[in-house]
This record gives sequence, structure tokens and C-alpha cells, in this order.
Amino acid sequence: MSNRRRNQVTAPTESPRSYDAAFCSDLDRKYLCPVCLSALHEPMQTSCGHRFCKTCIQGVINGRANAKCPVDNVVFKCNDELFEDKAFQREVLSQTVKCGNHDKGCTWTGELRSYQEHDARCQYVSVHCENNCGLRIPRHQLTDHADVCERRPVDCQHCNSQIPFTDLTKHQVLACQNLPVQCTLCGQAGIRRKDISAHIDITTGDCPLTVIPCQYASFGCQFQDKRRDMVEHYREAANHHILLLVRKISDQEQRISALEREVHLIQQEQEDQKQTLQQVQP
Ligand SMILES: [Zn+2]
Ligand SMILES: [Zn+2]
Ligand SMILES: [Zn+2]
Ligand SMILES: [Zn+2]
Ligand SMILES: [Zn+2]
Ligand SMILES: [Zn+2]
Ligand SMILES: [Zn+2]
Repeated sequence: MSNRRRNQVTAPTESPRSYDAAFCSDLDRKYLCPVCLSALHEPMQTSCGHRFCKTCIQGVINGRANAKCPVDNVVFKCNDELFEDKAFQREVLSQTVKCGNHDKGCTWTGELRSYQEHDARCQYVSVHCENNCGLRIPRHQLTDHADVCERRPVDCQHCNSQIPFTDLTKHQVLACQNLPVQCTLCGQAGIRRKDISAHIDITTGDCPLTVIPCQYASFGCQFQDKRRDMVEHYREAANHHILLLVRKISDQEQRISALEREVHLIQQEQEDQKQTLQQVQP
């Protein structure tokens, strides 16, 4: 393992490999690359007769014209003494191998060439849980895990939105607009959170304990009290309210007469100007 790591560091960016090293322990040694210790991938043969993965030997060559064979240090010319070994490639791919997850219970065996296809479907490969809970679960356990995953989506019974299980309480306590809550003023329960602001609204609400201004505020009454106590104010202050109305009306009458006087003056001025003009041009 440490050997493989070290060798991978010297290799250039590797093209995706079609099979995993881990499962190849049951392969004959001659099918293993001496550099990466995996099954030979696109094998290349040197003139000294040793074989390496294409990417592994390219890492050793590192762009030079001549290089040394990593096995016996024989120098070879990179252009003339290194060959793709297609026949050996076919041989490697025909080897029967076990699944890399056989120690976890996968009983699959098959030719190396089918391994990638199997790996994509192997029930013993661990995959990320799609709820993003952070766990990696063998495929065959995903269905069982989905029932207990702490990030499984559950329905909020109040608003029907889907919430990850571990967030449900937080959602309901802090966010759910349909959660029935209690009015903190009057104590009435069962009001949906989104309806609370309407319930306590000064103008259109019906909370008996909301403090509201007297409806004669625009006439000058400064009084305000809880909605349920306003009836009493309207009864007690009826005379006061009438006085306010009368005062407002007389104020407005005065303003109207003042405006009328102003209009009259303007009309008179215009009349005067007209006459002056007629005198100038008979
Ligand atoms: Zn290799
Ligand atoms: Zn060699
Ligand atoms: Zn498998
Ligand atoms: Zn999960
Ligand atoms: Zn909700
Ligand atoms: Zn209330
Ligand atoms: Zn009032």
C-alpha cells in the first residue's frame, strides 16, 4: 500500500483506471504492474521484457528520450523500445477476478473486463446517502438506512413541506407558518403563526387585548386602550367626541369662508385688470 502511494506521486495525472487495485490480490503476479501494483492497465512492454501500465511508465519516462526500466534498470529508448502490448492487455482482461468487496459479502466473480460494469452495480459498494447525512452505506443497506437516516425527509404535519428529520423541531418552533400558536396578549390558542399578525392588527385584528387608538383620534381624542375596553370609552366619552366633531366642523367652516374670501379677492383683481386693459385699448 505505501509502495503504491509513493509510486503514484511520481506518476503524472493518471487517466481514470478501469479497475481497482484492491481486488487484484488474487491475480497472478505477472498481471500486476511493478509500479502501481494494480492489474496492468493498457500494458506497455519495454525492450527488456517488463510490462507496466501506460500511465505508470509515462510517469517514469517523464518526457525524456531514454529511461531506465524500474525493475532492472536497463536503459531503453522511449520512442523505439517501448510497445503497447495489446495481446497481454486481452490476457489481463480475461482473468477471472473476485469483487473487491468479497470480504464484505459480495460473491461476484468474473472476467476483469466486466469488473467496471459490476462495480457500478455492486451491492456491497459503499455510496453516499442521498439525504446528505454524511454516511457511506453499502448499496444493499440503503433501503433500510432510508427509514432511519436522521436526514430523511419527513412531512411537517402543519404545513406539509418536507423537512429533514433532525430539522423538524427547529422548523416547527421557529419557522413553520402553519403551526398553531398562542396569542401572547390574549392567550387564545390554535391561531396559525401566519395569522397572528392579522389577529393583533390595530385596525383589522380581533385580539381583545391589542391596545388600539380611539377611532376619533383624527378629531383629537388621544385616548387608547385594549380593544375590549374601547366600548366603554365610546360610551363614557360620547359627549367629548361630539365636542371634538363640532370643533372640527367649525374649524373647517372657518377655513372654507377664508378660502371663499380669497377666491373673491382674486376674481375682483382679475375684473379690475380687465377694465384697465379696455381703457388702454378702446
Ligand atoms: Zn501501473
Ligand atoms: Zn526491465
Ligand atoms: Zn461486488
Ligand atoms: Zn443517510
Ligand atoms: Zn411546517
Ligand atoms: Zn390575542
Ligand atoms: Zn376617544
